[in-house]
Amino acid sequence: ATAERTELEIRNISKDFRGLRALDDVSFSVAAGAIHGVVGPNGSGKTTLFNVISGLYRATGGAVELDGQVITGARPYRLSLLGIARTFQNLRLFEELSVRDNILVAMDRTRTRSGWRYLVWPVGIWRQDRELRRGSEALLSRFGITDYADTTPGSLPYGIQRRIEIARAMASRPRLLLLDEPAAGLNGEEVRQLAEIVRSIRGSGVTVVVIEHNMGLVMSLCERVTVLASGQVIADGTPEEVVASPAVIEAYLGG
Ligand code: ADP
Repeated sequence: ATAERTELEIRNISKDFRGLRALDDVSFSVAAGAIHGVVGPNGSGKTTLFNVISGLYRATGGAVELDGQVITGARPYRLSLLGIARTFQNLRLFEELSVRDNILVAMDRTRTRSGWRYLVWPVGIWRQDRELRRGSEALLSRFGITDYADTTPGSLPYGIQRRIEIARAMASRPRLLLLDEPAAGLNGEEVRQLAEIVRSIRGSGVTVVVIEHNMGLVMSLCERVTVLASGQVIADGTPEEVVASPAVIEAYLGG
């Protein structure tokens, strides 16, 4: 059998908050190019795990590896440069900026074709701006939000705001995208569109880890699912395997 290349390795991660063990010896792997689900009851540690991976929280113990490189303890800006992007359960868009500017502020300047030379050369700054603007227009179009480019996000339907947040995360050109409950508050049609967007992101070579409560979406979208309960991994496998797991049935139905 050919070994799957691992993009993200979570090794024995623990996280304590003043006596509360929010994550307890959590280990699992995310294969490169996968859509990997993280599910579990409220308070099971899912968002804490994302906060550890993206550098917002420092783990109490254990290690996170990105493509074989230990990244535990790295600052969020460095993790962003290494290719990790995320969205938040509660949208965090710049309310004062247009949709276009929300995307533009997140664009990756380090990999513009114009490169560093242009930063010390006035015409170069203009050229780099033009390149970034083209990139942002491409993202607006790809995520179907061109019509809202000049609007501020607050006035737009919730489903559109969620799409803007994903587009902004993609502006940094990540190789690993962490989505925290992207379907929360979406209607059926919006959930269907979200699934298409996530598949197209994976199709462009980005590994996706998604925290999600909508089990229908998890079942249709994810190749593998890790289930957390009380900060511990209680199941890990294909969606079919985990929903049939007695520990999972117990965690969801066992009072
Ligand atoms: P989930 O995302 O699965 O709903 P969380 O990761 O948000 O779960 O929370 C897991 C546990 O850790 C909960 O008991 C929560 O109250 C606790 N927790 C999360 N963040 C903090 C924090 N910053 N300080 C103290 N406790 C926290």
